[in-house]
Amino acid sequence: MQLHKMRNHWVFSPQEFFGVVHGLKPVSRNILSNNEIPPAKFEKECKKNSVIFEIKELKEMYNQKANAKIAYISKEKELIEKAKEAEEKGNRKKIAKLLGYPECCAEFFSKEHAFGVTKKILEKSQKPFNWQLNFFYNLDSRLNNIELNALDWQTVERINSYCIYLINHVPCSFECKKSQEYAEKMKKILQKEEPRLAKKIEEILKKPLFYQSELLIAVFEESNVKKSPLLEELSTMKKSEAINKLEKGIGELLLFE
Ligand SMILES: [Zn+2]
Repeated sequence: MQLHKMRNHWVFSPQEFFGVVHGLKPVSRNILSNNEIPPAKFEKECKKNSVIFEIKELKEMYNQKANAKIAYISKEKELIEKAKEAEEKGNRKKIAKLLGYPECCAEFFSKEHAFGVTKKILEKSQKPFNWQLNFFYNLDSRLNNIELNALDWQTVERINSYCIYLINHVPCSFECKKSQEYAEKMKKILQKEEPRLAKKIEEILKKPLFYQSELLIAVFEESNVKKSPLLEELSTMKKSEAINKLEKGIGELLLFE
């Protein structure tokens, strides 16, 4: 399927959908907004690829009262039930494994409840980081579908942030071998299903990145940092000055907010 067609579905990113189709992810799930009705086209696409698509209402999540509508996809109905149950009961390790996270990262996720990058991961990993583990651009876990829909394609192109990832979990470190294996498999899946996106992802993930909330610079392989005096300059600036400079529109660095 072409990326622009996939975009119209919006229920799952190509990584999630094809990750399930090709067996890399046992389950994928996405929280829907209350009035959101997934397009019929998406259901058809699932049938064509022998993927089971179900929407579940969860009254409880992580042992707290909830009123959540969650879309699940899997090749096995039973795994959808297991994922729903794990999330209701707050079994983070189980849900992480069902979503395909490597064992070490599932363990890390369940202990740290790490939804975003933490200083700890950046500091304990040797630079430059493996570019395949650059998960900073994954907006999927931070925006609901309505918010994603509200982003016009130009904005998305400008911030280069729509489904730009190979791993959508927080790795236990930027050296995690299991996550690298996962990313390599995802890359091959995308090269087959969405070659244009695969190429774009590789190009973006290899760039250095200024991470605003912690004022940290994440440097990935092939970032060519030495040729970027700007990066050095930013790292010595105060946060407000650095943001000012970035807002003036610098094409060389990509900003994650
Ligand atoms: Zn790991």
